[in-house]
Amino acid sequence: MPHYDAVIIGAGLGGLLCGNILAREGMHVCVLEQNSVIGGGMQSFARNGVVFNTGLNYTESLGEGETLNRYFSYFGILDQLKLRRMDADGFERISFKGDDKEYPFAQGHDHFVETLASHFPKERENLRIYMNYLNEISSSFPLYSLDTKSQVIEGKYLQVNAFDYIKSTIGDTRLQQVLAGLNSLYGGVADKTPLYVHALINSSFIRSSWRLVDGSSQLPRAIAKTITNHGGVIRRKARVVKLGGEKSGIDYAELEDGERITAKRFISNVHPSVTLNLVEDTITKRAHKQRINQLPNTMGMFTLYLDFKPETQPYLNFNHHHFAGENAWTTAYKQDEWPEHYMFYTPAISKSEQWADGGVVITYMNYQEVAKWANTSIENRGAEYEAFKQKKAEQLIDFMAQKFPAIRDRIARYYTSTPLTYRDYTGTPEGSAYGILKDANDPLSTIISPKSRVGNLYFTGQNLNMHGVLGVTIGAVLTCAEFFGTEYLMNKIKQHI
Ligand SMILES: Cc1cc2nc3c(=O)[nH]c(=O)nc-3n(C[C@H](O)[C@H](O)[C@H](O)COP(=O)(O)OP(=O)(O)OC[C@H]3O[C@@H](n4cnc5c(N)ncnc54)[C@H](O)[C@@H]3O)c2cc1C
Repeated sequence: MPHYDAVIIGAGLGGLLCGNILAREGMHVCVLEQNSVIGGGMQSFARNGVVFNTGLNYTESLGEGETLNRYFSYFGILDQLKLRRMDADGFERISFKGDDKEYPFAQGHDHFVETLASHFPKERENLRIYMNYLNEISSSFPLYSLDTKSQVIEGKYLQVNAFDYIKSTIGDTRLQQVLAGLNSLYGGVADKTPLYVHALINSSFIRSSWRLVDGSSQLPRAIAKTITNHGGVIRRKARVVKLGGEKSGIDYAELEDGERITAKRFISNVHPSVTLNLVEDTITKRAHKQRINQLPNTMGMFTLYLDFKPETQPYLNFNHHHFAGENAWTTAYKQDEWPEHYMFYTPAISKSEQWADGGVVITYMNYQEVAKWANTSIENRGAEYEAFKQKKAEQLIDFMAQKFPAIRDRIARYYTSTPLTYRDYTGTPEGSAYGILKDANDPLSTIISPKSRVGNLYFTGQNLNMHGVLGVTIGAVLTCAEFFGTEYLMNKIKQHI
């Protein structure tokens, strides 16, 4: 007799939300997490009393009646989250070196158009066309619109490239780049990233944007509670090293100490190529593994965590995206010109709305820059790696100081992370920030189905549908719909208005 109805590998957002749905539907579930802390990219950590988020700064569409609000009420977690709505007149500010202006993204689709049109009056009509089209795209995805009648017209949306669409719709070259200013939220590659990726992210954040107050870890903690309250089990320090069984499917997940946990079905929250490498060769075809292994991933990130001296750095209720040149598509940066961009934000804390005690600065980092330390592990990478990180941190602070001259004096101490850190904490290949890179040139090859080619193995998480809180949430519903049907789950979710 299998131990469980379902074993879930990984307690990132995707794994935990699947645990929530299955446990509430009466299944006996067990979530296996390799780390001592759950949450994956949703983890926050504290140093010297300052809380930093690792991969969740803000989330979207949490206003009453909006999509994520309805999902979170369905999951039974909405009331437990401490949220702060970001600046309605400019939750994102985009700037470019040599241009003193900051271009704001306002919340609310009309407000967004009018606010940017005040900077680009001749583009008002084009901005309206752009915003309407983004909304049309996101409403055509049924789980984004929560409307079963919605339909994705594949060729129309999946094969259109975001860069080309913006260029063809907007005349002003500066505005074209401003609209691509949230590029680092999806690791956009100019000749690949599909318009639907750009549209789903921009449209839902523009609808409304929210920070989690006092750290992002509250989100995985709240979900975990719902799982255990419904009889589910979450095991920490339970790293799965093998998925074994017979030809027809998986029988057990094996942990490092050899313990085998049996279940009727297995859901992996781990990157699909890493998952398939855990599956015994007799169960999965080598060609299938190879195909998934070859899919390119999004770029990784270098992150700088700033601990500010008391009452020196004002809390900013917005994110700042600054570019070193005219171009907002900076994944193909030149190593000797790094950093070509950064995103800077101050996490929300309950003790003050005026001052920030920490700041987070994120910029792209190519895995090749850290590949020589690939065989090392966290906190044991050696002095050369530490010197590399320090050099990069100083370069990034120098670049920031061009825009914020007082920043250096405000820093009491700082910490850093690289793609290797993400690789080792979450298991994502080469520390990719958002998993498999979606490609408008070959959209279907980069869209992963929740049902794997192994009978009772399913995928969930950011590689499925989309990354980010909303993307992974929808991915979890898609995975669980394999067991209960989409309509059944949608009807339950839609009861939450
Ligand atoms: C720098 C950065 C900033 C971001 N900012 C935002 C933001 O502001 N807003 C937003 O919405 N999104 C943001 N994202 C994206 C978001 O963090 C991710 O899309 C999301 O966390 C992915 O969740 P997941 O469940 O797919 O996977 P993960 O969070 O990667 O979870 C995978 C889990 O599986 C576990 N695991 C791996 N291998 C094993 C194994 N063998 N055995 C057991 N467990 C295993 C891992 O430890 C981890 O807990 C950001 C990402 C990055 C990198």
